[in-house]
Amino acid sequence: MPDYSVSQLSPKLRQQIASNPEQEFSMVMNDLREAANSQHRNFSNSKINAEVISGFRTGESTGEGTDSTDARQISIDGEVYLEILVYTESGKGKTLGHPADPSLTTQQREIVLSCLEWARSDAPIGSISTPPNCGDRVSCYYETGAVQNSDFSGLRFRTDSIARQNSSTLTIRTSGNSPMSNLFTGQVTPLGATQSPAKIAAMTAADTVAKALKYDADSTIPNKSAHLSRFATDTHPEFILYAKAVIYDMWSTKQATITLNSTFRTVGTQRIMRKKWDDWKAGTGTNPNYAARPAKAGHSKHNLGTAIDFNATIGTKTYGSRNFGTTKQEWVDSGLPDIIRSHGLRWGGDWSSNYDPIHMDLEVTEAKRKEIVRASGTLTSKTSAIAAISAISLK
Ligand SMILES: [Zn+2]
Repeated sequence: MPDYSVSQLSPKLRQQIASNPEQEFSMVMNDLREAANSQHRNFSNSKINAEVISGFRTGESTGEGTDSTDARQISIDGEVYLEILVYTESGKGKTLGHPADPSLTTQQREIVLSCLEWARSDAPIGSISTPPNCGDRVSCYYETGAVQNSDFSGLRFRTDSIARQNSSTLTIRTSGNSPMSNLFTGQVTPLGATQSPAKIAAMTAADTVAKALKYDADSTIPNKSAHLSRFATDTHPEFILYAKAVIYDMWSTKQATITLNSTFRTVGTQRIMRKKWDDWKAGTGTNPNYAARPAKAGHSKHNLGTAIDFNATIGTKTYGSRNFGTTKQEWVDSGLPDIIRSHGLRWGGDWSSNYDPIHMDLEVTEAKRKEIVRASGTLTSKTSAIAAISAISLK
C-alpha cells in the first residue's frame, strides 16, 4: 500500500478535518485501531490467543454481587450465547497491556478493564459442556465483517478449545503464568453459573419498562393500591420499574395475586434483626421466626430499597417461605422464579446457603452499595433514609 500525505488530500476535505477536532481524532483512532488489528485481517486464518478475564470478582472478596467483568448471556434468534471479557495476547489487548500488571493504579486498571474486548461463544451455550474459567486460554477470531475482511467488533471465542473442568472445584488458574491469582483474591465465580443481573437488566431494560407501563395501565391487578403505597414509601425509584414489571407478568401470565410483606428496612433495623438471629443461634435468645437469616446490616438489598419479600397466590394455593411449608419444587413449577429472573432480578430461592424464596432483589455494584449505605446508614427514620437513597442513581 502506497504512503499518502495530508498534502495530497483534497483542500476541501483538509479544511473539513482541520475545522473539526472530533472528526480528526476519530480518523486517527480508526487508523490506530486498524493498525493494531491488521495482523488479524485475514479472519478465516486468524487465531488470536486470549486469556479469560471474566470469572473473578474485582470489587470484593465474598464472591457475591456483580462485577463489570462478569460473564453475560445474550439471546440471539432464540439461542443463548456466552460473552466473556478477554485479554487478547495480540492486537488490541497487547496494545493495552495486561489488567493484572501490578504497576497499574486501581483507576488505571479500571480503564484497562473497560477497554478490553468481549468475545462471544461461537456456539450456543447449551452446546458448551463447561464454560471457560478465569485465567484459561481461549482461541479467538473476528467474525467476517465490514472493516477490511473482518469485523473488529465481532470477536468470537472458539468453544471447541475450552478445557473441561469440574465446575464445583473452580479456581483461578495459576498455570500459564496468569498473574491474576496474585492480584485478585476474591472467590472465583463459575462463568455462566452465576449471571450478572445488572448486565442482563441493562439489556432487557426496554422490555422491563414496557411491562411496568402495562402494570400502570392495568386496573385489574389485585392489591394494586397496596403495592403502590409500598412503592411510594419503601423502594428506590429505579427499582419500582422492576417490581411493577415482575408483578405485571406474574398476574398476566399466571394469574398470581402478589402480596408485598416486607420492603425497605433501615440499616439500624437490619442490625437488630441480625442480632436476634445470631443470639438465637448462639443459644442466648429466642427464635425470631424469620423466613431466612437476615443479611448483615448494610448488606441486605432491603437496606437499599431494591428488594421485596412477597407471597403469591394462584387459585387456592399460596406460595410462601420454607416456614410456611412451600417446597422449592412447588416454587419452581409455578413459573414465578423464571419471571423474576427474566427481568434481571435475583430470586432468593436460588440461594443454596440461605434459601429465601419469598425474596427478590436488584443487585447493585459494591461501590454503589457503599455509597448508599454511607448516605443513609445512620438515618433512623425510614422517610429520611429513603429520601437519601432515592437521590443516588443505581446506574
Ligand atoms: Zn428479603
